Amino acid sequence: MTNLNPITPQLIDACRRKLNYLRVSITDRCNLRCIYCVPRDRIPKLAHDDILRYEEILRIVRTGVRLGITKVRVTGGEPLVRKGVFDFLSELTRMEGIEDVSLTTNGMTLATHMDQIVVAGINRINVSLDSLEREKFAAITGRDGFDRVWAGIEKAMEKGLSPIKINVVAMAGVNDNELIDMARLTIDRPLHVRFIEFMPMGTSGMDVGCQMLTPEIQAALSPLGHLEPVENGRIDGPARRFRLPGAAGEIGFISAISHHFCSTCNRLRLTANGQLRPCLMSDVQVDLKGPLRSGATDADIENLFFEAIAKKPSEHHLSRRGPAQVSQQMCAIGG
Ligand code: SAM
Repeated sequence: MTNLNPITPQLIDACRRKLNYLRVSITDRCNLRCIYCVPRDRIPKLAHDDILRYEEILRIVRTGVRLGITKVRVTGGEPLVRKGVFDFLSELTRMEGIEDVSLTTNGMTLATHMDQIVVAGINRINVSLDSLEREKFAAITGRDGFDRVWAGIEKAMEKGLSPIKINVVAMAGVNDNELIDMARLTIDRPLHVRFIEFMPMGTSGMDVGCQMLTPEIQAALSPLGHLEPVENGRIDGPARRFRLPGAAGEIGFISAISHHFCSTCNRLRLTANGQLRPCLMSDVQVDLKGPLRSGATDADIENLFFEAIAKKPSEHHLSRRGPAQVSQQMCAIGG
């Protein structure tokens, strides 16, 4: 039962930011090896016992909900590769106090699992797709999977999921010649194509020289002409949103480096091995798994949430092409 007691303290940090959004990574495993995400050298996978069990994650989420979390995103690694994920998603979508549950996936098994996703109560998804060219897709991800991902996106449209957001990491010399085609996908499809700046984290196989910041991405899209601004709704994220005139879908820019949105950041992240991270771009984290497995009470877990928000930096210091200041890989945190 959600505690509706009005005096329950809420997750509001020293910068007056209300933390109501929890991103949960349920696995560090992934069936792709995207150049900007996985490390150059193989890192050992988490041992089975190091990964939070679903019931442990649900207990943490319930605690967060008592403290004001209303929005949850399930991510990974690749969340759809973890056994039992659909029952877990159902538990989340039925949890009292949660208003919004979404899923970030690479789409490789989306078409196969679409019915289970819908039955679990998920009605909006983010799919990562950095190229519309089969061979380039394979070069970026390490697998010849473009057709499968595209079939998954088509299936999601057919099922009426909304919005379907397509995450595109823009990379000079890799997919910059396709950004216009990506944006054009929105003309007659209800897709939200969002261009993301590469964040140098951990060690990835990507050369930071490939990083494109939003102004460069926008310049690459300029042949498309005027983009009409779209207003952000209450539960929308930090993307700056636009629409091509008359288009069915939208174009968004997520400018974590060039125009960071730290002052309005409402996010906490739970890693697959039970660490609560107050900022994506800082290695500061609070261990929940240890206390949880040694008998922590709900009040103890609440206190650990407050410890995490006390450590939330006012802003991150990741800069353009600067050296990675975060040692953890994105695939370990969940993006
Ligand atoms: N496997 C799922 C997927 O591919 O969407 C979820 C996990 S993935 C880490 C989540 C998002 O992070 C993806 O959209 C991916 O493009 C993005 N991402 C990963 N590494 C990144 C980086 N270094 N900079 C910017 N975005 C990154």
